[in-house]
Amino acid sequence: MSFEFGGVFEPGRCVHVAPGVRRLVAPNASLFTGPGTNTYLLGDPVTAVIDPGPADAAHLAALGAAAPAPAMLFTTHTHPDHSPAAKPLAEATGARLIGRRPPADGRQDLSFAPVHEPQRDERFALPGGDLVVRAIDTPGHASNHVCYLLENCGLLFAGDHVLDGVTPVILAPDGDMGAYLDSLRRLLGYPLRAIAPGHGRLLAEPQRVIEGVIAHREQREAKVVAALAALHGADEAALLAWVYDDVPVVLHRLARFSLEAHLIKLAAEHRAHREGDRWHAV
Ligand SMILES: [Zn+2]
Repeated sequence: MSFEFGGVFEPGRCVHVAPGVRRLVAPNASLFTGPGTNTYLLGDPVTAVIDPGPADAAHLAALGAAAPAPAMLFTTHTHPDHSPAAKPLAEATGARLIGRRPPADGRQDLSFAPVHEPQRDERFALPGGDLVVRAIDTPGHASNHVCYLLENCGLLFAGDHVLDGVTPVILAPDGDMGAYLDSLRRLLGYPLRAIAPGHGRLLAEPQRVIEGVIAHREQREAKVVAALAALHGADEAALLAWVYDDVPVVLHRLARFSLEAHLIKLAAEHRAHREGDRWHAV
C-alpha cells in the first residue's frame, strides 16, 4: 500500500498522500496549528472532504477548485481551525454535513450544524466508487471528537487526537484526559495502517505511535503525582514549573492546559484535591 509520508505544506497545493486521498493544507500555520490545518480530499473526482478547515477565503477557493461537487463533508471536531469552512462549502455544493454538534464551552465553531451525527462505528460508503469510511468515537481532545478510518487502505483521519511530533492539548472542561486515554487504548483495536493527522505529516506504524502517546501521558501524570507529593500544596504555576521542567518555557502556556486536565482527572479518581488555588495529593 503506497502512502506518502513526506512533508510538503504549501497552502493551496493538493498533495497525494494515499490511494484516493489528497491533502490540502490551510494557510493558518501557528503555534497551535503547526504547518496549518490539513483538509483531506477523498476520491477522484472528490466525493468526500474530511475537516474542511477554517473559513479562510483562499482556502475556500482552493477547496472549491479541488472539490467542486463532494457528496459528504466530515468533521473530526468543531474547534475553529477544523470546521468553519464546512458551512459555506455545504451551501455551495449541497454536500451533507457529517459530524457531532459543537459543545458549549466557548471554544467551538457554532456555525457547524450537521445533518447527520455518526453512530458509533457507523460506515459510510462514498458514492461513485468503493471507498468506505468508518466513524470511530474518540472523545478526549474535544468531547465531540470522531476519527474516520478509510477501510480500503487502513488510513486513520485522526483530527487532533494524534498529531505529528507533538501531543495534543487537552482543554478542560470540554477536553477530558481520562476519556482521551480511553479513546487511544480503544483505537489500538482497529486495523490501522497509517495515521493522517489534522496537522502535520502522515504517520507510519500507528500502533507504536498511539502506544507512545499513551506512555507519554502516563509519564506526565506520574510526574504530576510526584510533584503533588513533593510540594505539599502547590498552585498551578509551581506545579507547571516542576512537571514541565523538560519543556521550553515558551510552551508552558500550552502545557498549562494539559496540567489542568491531568489534575482534573486525578481529582475525579480521588488522587488529588484542591483547596483554594492549591493542589494536594490524596
Ligand atoms: Zn482541536
